[in-house]
Amino acid sequence: MNCPKCEGYYLKPQKLDNGLMALSCDNCRGTLLSIVQFIQWRATQKISDNIVNAICEIDETSQLLYCPKCSGFMTKYRISNHTHNRLDLCYRCYEVWIDSGEWQLLRQLDLQQQLDDIFSDRWQNNLVVNIIDEKIEKRVKNLFGDEFSKISAFKVWLDSYEKKNVVIEYLKKRKSK
Ligand SMILES: [Zn+2]
Ligand SMILES: [Zn+2]
Repeated sequence: MNCPKCEGYYLKPQKLDNGLMALSCDNCRGTLLSIVQFIQWRATQKISDNIVNAICEIDETSQLLYCPKCSGFMTKYRISNHTHNRLDLCYRCYEVWIDSGEWQLLRQLDLQQQLDDIFSDRWQNNLVVNIIDEKIEKRVKNLFGDEFSKISAFKVWLDSYEKKNVVIEYLKKRKSK
């Protein structure tokens, strides 16, 4: 199988992680991983057995990739809001393209055991919701400036207060003089 990024380079079997085999390109050091193989590997892993390696250089492919197996296009999935890196998935073959350094990135984010979750609607929708939350928070911060910490503390208190609804009604109904 050819590398989806480098012309004239073949993918060769290589160890991606302890006990996890995948196909890698010698040139770009990207890796094609079968999700089925990944799920089998995960079943053998202890939870939170995460040794974070030193940060290495991380590649990110911006161009559209074609699956080395079926030649169909691969879909890009954002990993998290803390990184701009995306993974390329062929949903027909259930193979994922991992750029050089991205597996280490997944380890650093402690997401290496949730690789298949990243492609779920739930995961992707959550990322969008979190971005919206962060945007709202930013806007509120700009609006209130130094008062923001007070408002934020009040919100934390209000969210945990059992008579929250009564307080909200009170604030709404009380007429300003
Ligand atoms: Zn390559
Ligand atoms: Zn494919």
